[in-house]
Amino acid sequence: MVQRLEDMRAGRKTSTLNSSSIIPSLEAETGNLLDEVPELYIRASLEMLSALEGLLGEEIDGDTLLYGMDAKFYEPKICTSRYFETAIPDLFLIGDCSGETHSLSQAAASGILLGRHLALDLEKSNHSIL
Ligand SMILES: Cc1cc2nc3c(=O)[nH]c(=O)nc-3n(C[C@H](O)[C@H](O)[C@H](O)COP(=O)(O)OP(=O)(O)OC[C@H]3O[C@@H](n4cnc5c(N)ncnc54)[C@H](O)[C@@H]3O)c2cc1C
Repeated sequence: MVQRLEDMRAGRKTSTLNSSSIIPSLEAETGNLLDEVPELYIRASLEMLSALEGLLGEEIDGDTLLYGMDAKFYEPKICTSRYFETAIPDLFLIGDCSGETHSLSQAAASGILLGRHLALDLEKSNHSIL
C-alpha cells in the first residue's frame, strides 16, 4: 500500500496519485497505511521524518510516497518424514514450524494429512476412533 506523506500527516487515506508530483516507482494500492501497519511504526516514521526536516531545515514534500510492505519470514526446514514426523518418534511438526508450509491452506492441509495418516494407523492397530 502507498500513501502520500501529506495525507498520512492529515490522517486521511490517499485515494489517487493522479495529481501527485512524484511518480511511484513501485506498484501499490493507494490507501491509509494506518489500516495496514501498526500505529507505533507510523508514529515512529512520522517522528523520524519530522526530525529529518529539522536537520535539513526544510519541509519534506507532501507528495513524498510512503510504502507499507507485507513481509513474511520462513522457518528453517526441519527434516521430517512425508507425514511430518521428526527424527524423534511420535513428534510431528505440522504447519509453518516445519519450515515446509508457507501459507494458511498449506498449514491446514499438513494437519489434515497427518490426521488422516494417524487415523489410518489407529484403524490398522484395531483401535476405535472416537
Ligand atoms: C504478514 C503475513 C501475511 C500473510 N499473508 C498470508 C496470506 O495472505 N495468505 C496465506 O495463505 N498465508 C499468509 N501468511 C502465512 C500464514 O499466516 C501462515 O502460513 C499460517 O498462519 C501458518 O499457520 P500455522 O498454524 O502453522 O501457524 P500460526 O498461524 O503462526 O499459529 C501458531 C500459533 O501458535 C501460537 N504459539 C506460538 N508459540 C506458542 C507457545 N509456546 N504456546 C502456545 N501457543 C503458541 C501462536 O500464538 C499462534 O497462534 C501470512 C503471514 C504473514 C506473517
